[in-house]
Amino acid sequence: MPRPMKRTPWRGFLDSVARMSTTRTNYWAEFVIDLALGAWLLFEGWRRHQGDVPAALAVLLGLFAFSFVEYFFHRWMFHTQIPLFAQGHRLHHEHPLGYDSLPFFLPGAVLLVLTGLCMLVAPAGFALLMMGSVTFGYIAYGLSHFIIHHVRFRHPLLLRWAGAHHVHHYHPDTNFGVTTPLWDIVLGTRYVRKSRRI
Ligand SMILES: [Zn+2]
Ligand SMILES: [Zn+2]
Repeated sequence: MPRPMKRTPWRGFLDSVARMSTTRTNYWAEFVIDLALGAWLLFEGWRRHQGDVPAALAVLLGLFAFSFVEYFFHRWMFHTQIPLFAQGHRLHHEHPLGYDSLPFFLPGAVLLVLTGLCMLVAPAGFALLMMGSVTFGYIAYGLSHFIIHHVRFRHPLLLRWAGAHHVHHYHPDTNFGVTTPLWDIVLGTRYVRKSRRI
């Protein structure tokens, strides 16, 4: 028989943060914070950048890196048992039109830590521009995910793009990429429709 879970102050804190993460205010507060953070990172990066080519490379590298971050978090953080990451995502799968998401401060905190780590190994201007680009990739992901669930597309290409994520809601072990199918194709998790023939 499973033992009842002991309620510790830490558990209580996690529960209240998880409850807050279901609200619309939390959802849009996170959007505003990420937008401010992304603009600040790009501004600071531009101020310290050395050369336009490295600056353009940093932005492109950031977008490319984000495409993998999106896949990594969705596959290996959200679809596991990690507190806060998994809870909000499980609720999103149950209520795709709801506002269940990460606590508003968490993505910004993770992005700041990653920026600090990048600044240890790359010139500050390059690291800041790259992480600004990662942050805008994340904002684009959030907005894409929101409109996929709230807008009915007519254009065939957009329908296909949105459809790939709707398929993920029925087959949660496939189609982890939301903005792009790139890493699903590379890592073999792209949904393939089974043949209807017997
Ligand atoms: Zn979704
Ligand atoms: Zn999912």
